[in-house]
Amino acid sequence: MERPLFYSLSPKSLKSFLESNGQKAFVATQILKWVYEKYEFNPENWTNISKNLKDLLLENFDFNLPRIVWNGLSKDGTRKFLVAMRDDKTVETVMIPARSNRKTLCVSSQVGCAIGCTFCHTGTMGLMRHLEAGEIIGQFLAVTKFLRDKVGPEERLSNVVFMGQGEPLHNFENVKVATELMVNEKALGLSQRRVTISTSGLVPQIKKLDDFPPVNIAISLHAAHNDIRTELMPINKAFDLDRLLGAIKEIPLKAHRYITYEYLLIDQYNDRAEDVTALLNLLPKKVSKINLIPFNEYPESNFKRPSVSRINWFKNQLEDGGITATIRTTKGSDILAACGQLKSELEKDANLWD
Ligand code: SAH
Ligand code: SF4
Repeated sequence: MERPLFYSLSPKSLKSFLESNGQKAFVATQILKWVYEKYEFNPENWTNISKNLKDLLLENFDFNLPRIVWNGLSKDGTRKFLVAMRDDKTVETVMIPARSNRKTLCVSSQVGCAIGCTFCHTGTMGLMRHLEAGEIIGQFLAVTKFLRDKVGPEERLSNVVFMGQGEPLHNFENVKVATELMVNEKALGLSQRRVTISTSGLVPQIKKLDDFPPVNIAISLHAAHNDIRTELMPINKAFDLDRLLGAIKEIPLKAHRYITYEYLLIDQYNDRAEDVTALLNLLPKKVSKINLIPFNEYPESNFKRPSVSRINWFKNQLEDGGITATIRTTKGSDILAACGQLKSELEKDANLWD
């Protein structure tokens, strides 16, 4: 049997593992410092840890990080990584530079995705498997290590968005553990406000979100009419707008003052005046923000991106109606790293990246 990944372990489970093996609990803190502060992933190099304990850890856990098998830098500074897991399955992880020296990592939560949205490149590949918590955390650690080795020792990632491959709430338990590790001070130590989970709208899992650390939630809405949403996202057949909005109302808003709705803008399809009206009627204004995502075209896609003037018109209409709207600038599209362009079949991507 394969050893479990060390990076799937919460600080609490590491402590109880150590205690049940006759070790002192404070050693957990020393170990976590090596990994999450010093980025030293080889226990052999942990100078304040005894030989016995190193052997115990190595016997019980796998400390290997996912391997970066390819990376590409976009003109805008976005860097896309193809990351291989220990079964050689690959996912994509994208580093996006943001304002004031911040860097966001867009992580994958599954290999492929079962939801099958018709506009999404990942959706066309189906679900291959869920990622383990340690494989999600591993994307963060592997990219940080890459940046430190190649760019500078002070490099760090400040934000995480679950907007790579996969539907995070379909992989609920593993994503929950990964999110806890992200915000835990003894692990990645990110601020809760800097972690965002994006979901296509799995209603039963949205109802269980109070179990999660109170990170940001983004809902991929994409349409304010059920018939259009069903065409774009088959999941709308099971969980339509009524049920979705009903479940969202129940999300405790103590930590996040608002819910972000992602709205893909597709030319002549969901970018009309009647879509603005329907959106304004659908969403509670004070607690909603809309993030407009101009559709990113990819070689086999059937949809078109609206013109810049139409995108701006749509945004202004929403704001005139009293709802905050932003337009997501497209990053990394020259290397197919933008939203919805991620797909990891190497042989196909090899052509796309040329
Ligand atoms: N499965 C989750 C998270 C990953 S997708 C979800 O659907 O929310 C992250 C975001 O990228 C979603 O809002 C998704 O709708 C968007 N996206 C997918 N394909 C896209 C495309 N071709 N152009 C622009 N955005 C896209
Ligand atoms: Fe899956 Fe999200 Fe793509 Fe839909 S948009 S197929 S939920 S990754």
